[in-house]
Amino acid sequence: MSQRIAILPENLTNKIAAGEVVERPSSVIKELIENSLDAGATDISVEITAGGRRLIRVTDNGHGMSREDALLSLERHATSKIRNDSDLESILTLGFRGEALPSIASVSRFCLSTREAGSLEGTEIVVEGGRVRDVKSCGMAQGTVIAVEQIFFNTPARLKFMKSAETEAGHVGDVMARLAVSRPDAAFSCIGDGREIMRVQRSDLQRRLSQVVGKDTTSHLHRVDSGGEYVAVSGFVSGPSLVRSGPQAMFTYVNGRFVRDKVVQHAIMQAYRGVIDRGRYPVVALFIQLPVGEVDVNVHPTKHEVRFRHQSTVHDGIQAAVEGVLRLSPWLAVKPAPPSSLSSLSSASQTAQAYRERIAAAAQASLTLPSREQQYPQPPVQARAENKGTIPVSEAPLPGAVVAEAEMPFQAEQRTPVAGYFSSLALIGQFHGEYILCQSGSDLVIIDQHAASERVAYQRLKQQCREGSVESQRLLFPETVELSFSEVVVAGRFRDNLAGIGFELEHFGGNTLMIAAVPRISSEKDAIGLVREILADLAGLGTSAAFQEALDELLSRIACHSVVRGFHALESRQIKELLHSMDETEFAASCPHGRPVSHVVRLDELEKIFKRT
Ligand code: ADP
Ligand code: MG
Repeated sequence: MSQRIAILPENLTNKIAAGEVVERPSSVIKELIENSLDAGATDISVEITAGGRRLIRVTDNGHGMSREDALLSLERHATSKIRNDSDLESILTLGFRGEALPSIASVSRFCLSTREAGSLEGTEIVVEGGRVRDVKSCGMAQGTVIAVEQIFFNTPARLKFMKSAETEAGHVGDVMARLAVSRPDAAFSCIGDGREIMRVQRSDLQRRLSQVVGKDTTSHLHRVDSGGEYVAVSGFVSGPSLVRSGPQAMFTYVNGRFVRDKVVQHAIMQAYRGVIDRGRYPVVALFIQLPVGEVDVNVHPTKHEVRFRHQSTVHDGIQAAVEGVLRLSPWLAVKPAPPSSLSSLSSASQTAQAYRERIAAAAQASLTLPSREQQYPQPPVQARAENKGTIPVSEAPLPGAVVAEAEMPFQAEQRTPVAGYFSSLALIGQFHGEYILCQSGSDLVIIDQHAASERVAYQRLKQQCREGSVESQRLLFPETVELSFSEVVVAGRFRDNLAGIGFELEHFGGNTLMIAAVPRISSEKDAIGLVREILADLAGLGTSAAFQEALDELLSRIACHSVVRGFHALESRQIKELLHSMDETEFAASCPHGRPVSHVVRLDELEKIFKRT
């Protein structure tokens, strides 16, 4: 009988392992840099051509290897980092599986050069598709240089899965950013096709973080340092003024290793409840330190996932550490108001509440009521000035006929208002700087001014887009913004599409982008925030076709940025303009996010409340 089972040759098992560890150039770079850091390197430089598809070279000043070790390092399961299974419980290095080098060497043309301290010469080993072709002596500085050329040249199936050079370069930048934040004590540089993509000197975490996520961020970052007995958490977290629309700037590390972990992310987001809006993510660099045996990093070959032995303890420890900082609202410290009013607060959400109230108070203080003589030549007939919190901007009621017609604007099944409805409303005033109160016959109509403005802006944009003429506004002073490397790639890929909706973006080198123009309708003041969000939205999309599909989402994003948030006093003229615009546009009764724009309280409902019936 023929033999059915065979042990696979090592070259093949290496290729199979490569399938797990080596997904793309950036994963090769991650493995090589981790090896360099494990070897004690303090200076690591990376060079790539064609996004790493043609060449990846990582040079370090670590302890290097002897010739014997260098040859051994290419064998599967060869590692200097663990010796027995008890070591597996207490891993302090980034690597330990002993599979990266043989895996990488099995799917590329590979050259390892290395020299140990005290050794007169180095060793150079050339490997092709997993077969050692040459071993010789070489002259070099102490440390290790690994060059990986033509990755996946012998695995065509994987080669097909590689993306364009720019996309791959973007991933390389992201991986380097994570590693650079993890080790501010080491210098990193990355050169792509002869151009410098990144260069950071040895420094401290705060400086390193701001080099990676943007120079303007430093003053918005607040230190976390909680030395819990079981979970120690340290690093930086941002206040409510520095947020992103995705979790891309959440750098989280467990025992020094970058992780993308649901438990960790959830804990952080819980701490931010009530501090930042839903759908926003903070900028954080958090180092979570646990007793080594309490976390299993051997869950996946890429080691991005971890398993905690006491998941909820870790979760609560992280949440408490972040909350501890946010509760103090350190971002308020720069404001003139005395901090005493906050000292008695005990939870993050209360703090946020106090924060909002303070903004509200400021808004009220700066509120200038329109002078009646100026604004309302006719005597106000339905003035409700006595209502506290209501700004009197009322005017003569509309002729009975119009009111009657508009009496039941929203039929139960049909939520679209009658034509001309909004301009026909009799204005009562503005409530809380956020709502417009109107009367329609015996109905009280409450309009969410933000939702309404957003809806109007969205409809206008859609129309301009249909007509192929989204109005663009050049910035007086072009702004530069630091992005993640993959976002820069996205900006390049969709450059023309973005120009079509009013954005003019120029790559400024490295991970910096220059914003020269934005859609006219959006607020120029937050051009950076808008561009960031748009690019984050686009990050998941592949092609221009996908851009068209995402267009509505993007337009609603721009509309969202056209609206002043929070308490915003409106003059009656502005309110009337808004109501008029609401009638002018194809106005649905909800904002682009699906929130309702207006709400009707019927007289009989009020009478019920006051027990008049
Ligand atoms: P692991 O990192 O899991 O041990 P690798 O295949 O990545 O496995 O590396 C194998 C071994 O080669 C490492 O354990 C280490 O001893 C050695 N090595 C790899 N890269 C370097 C380097 N840059 N400097 C010094 N030694 C290295
Ligand atoms: Mg390794």
